[in-house]
Amino acid sequence: MWKLFVLSLLTPLAVSAATIKDMNSQKAPFKLPPLAYPTSAFEPVIDKATMDLHHGKHHQAYVDKLNEALGSAKPTLLEVLRATKNYPDAVRNNAGGHWNHSFFWTLLVPETKTTKLSKKLESDIVKTFGSLDEFKGQFEQKATGLFGSGWVWLIRAEDGSLKITTTANQDNPLMDIATEKGRPILGLDVWEHAYYLNYQNRRADYVKGFWKIVNWEQVSKYDSEK
Ligand code: MN
Repeated sequence: MWKLFVLSLLTPLAVSAATIKDMNSQKAPFKLPPLAYPTSAFEPVIDKATMDLHHGKHHQAYVDKLNEALGSAKPTLLEVLRATKNYPDAVRNNAGGHWNHSFFWTLLVPETKTTKLSKKLESDIVKTFGSLDEFKGQFEQKATGLFGSGWVWLIRAEDGSLKITTTANQDNPLMDIATEKGRPILGLDVWEHAYYLNYQNRRADYVKGFWKIVNWEQVSKYDSEK
């Protein structure tokens, strides 16, 4: 019993319980999700000050502006993402901002923890990209090559294949307006607010650092979700 209690302190439930389904089905008014780790947990890859601002200010602002833009409407987050054409741009931008950041936080794990890809996802990555390193290289290229603010994704496309895609601003692959649609299983925020305090203009170093704190177990869970 005592051991179980200690274990529950060491294993943040929010991380293992995160599902795309839960993110999609949350209803307005939306709330800022708590982080499963202290904001210093990803040092030195992501510094505490960046995490504090990014989660507490930037993400909070997406949530607040989304609620404000929706007014009295009570759609689910997925309903909004699937119908951004029917809403003002403020809804598209802030709904994307809320979904993308909610997803992003769950992908991070302290560097001292080792997490593994599922056999299925690892073998699909190797089949698709040649090797895990080749996949990382292609992902890094997309991340550094993306002009301006946006996100780089690993998605399961509608035909089940794995693809690396990018979206501008706070768009994402679940949106009706996405040119490459699919289910995100990994995503990286390459807005300057995500790295500038620590890395200034060195986006490539931030992207390389990201691999040290990716929770591959969570990525695999997202991949296996139906
Ligand atoms: Mn961000």
